[in-house]
Amino acid sequence: MSFIDTHAHIYDQQFKEDIADVLERCAEADVQRIYMPNIDHTSIDAMLELENRYPQQCVPMMGLHPSSVRKHFESELYKVEEWLNRRPFAAVGEIGLDYYWDTSFKEQQKEAFRVQIDFAKQFRIPIVIHTRESFEDAIAIVEEKMEDTLTGVFHCFTGTSEEAERIVKAGFHIGLGGVSTFKNAKLDMVIPTIPIHAIVLETDSPYLAPVPHRGKRNEPSYIPLVAERVATYKQMALEEIAEKTTQNAFTLFKAS
Ligand SMILES: [Zn+2]
Repeated sequence: MSFIDTHAHIYDQQFKEDIADVLERCAEADVQRIYMPNIDHTSIDAMLELENRYPQQCVPMMGLHPSSVRKHFESELYKVEEWLNRRPFAAVGEIGLDYYWDTSFKEQQKEAFRVQIDFAKQFRIPIVIHTRESFEDAIAIVEEKMEDTLTGVFHCFTGTSEEAERIVKAGFHIGLGGVSTFKNAKLDMVIPTIPIHAIVLETDSPYLAPVPHRGKRNEPSYIPLVAERVATYKQMALEEIAEKTTQNAFTLFKAS
């Protein structure tokens, strides 16, 4: 069996002391690869350094997170573009809209989202989308920008069956993580309706650890806990969830 963590901020300060142990536990849990979403210019060095040390396990993306879109977001976008021109990345991510923490840069967030979707089209790589209290605006922009060449994933999905259906219809993947194991997230009714070909697994480490680690630091070795929950909801064997979601992740990131 093998798994892929399609979204983990494993370069975060919180892993600085014990990253070697974290990645060893990850390998022991059969999580063979970790895709690392970027945040902004402050996270790039740590992310690329980790790729340098563990090139088989840690794969970087490049993008500007919506919560880092502020007054001078244009200069951040120049840096993203510069890096995309310099070397290959697995995806443009993470990008999107976040209205939960701050809505004062809503228009700038939309602008940055659109510009970065165009980067993805230009470089022919997928987009990794973050939405928080902004699903309607985010899917509308994706639908408006939709072309055969645009693919990607709505990461950390916590929405309704109707929202999942709209994502699948756009040909996008749905990232399921620790929230799938939270009782109050009510995903037990939604996950059975999501077609298996659209599902990829993620941790979003160090955030949103699955039960029974809820509230503690999350890490990629917890992926099987998410997979087990998805297997239960989909009434499928764990081995099948591992195999299909790994295939889906390869399809998403055009990898093997
Ligand atoms: Zn993230």
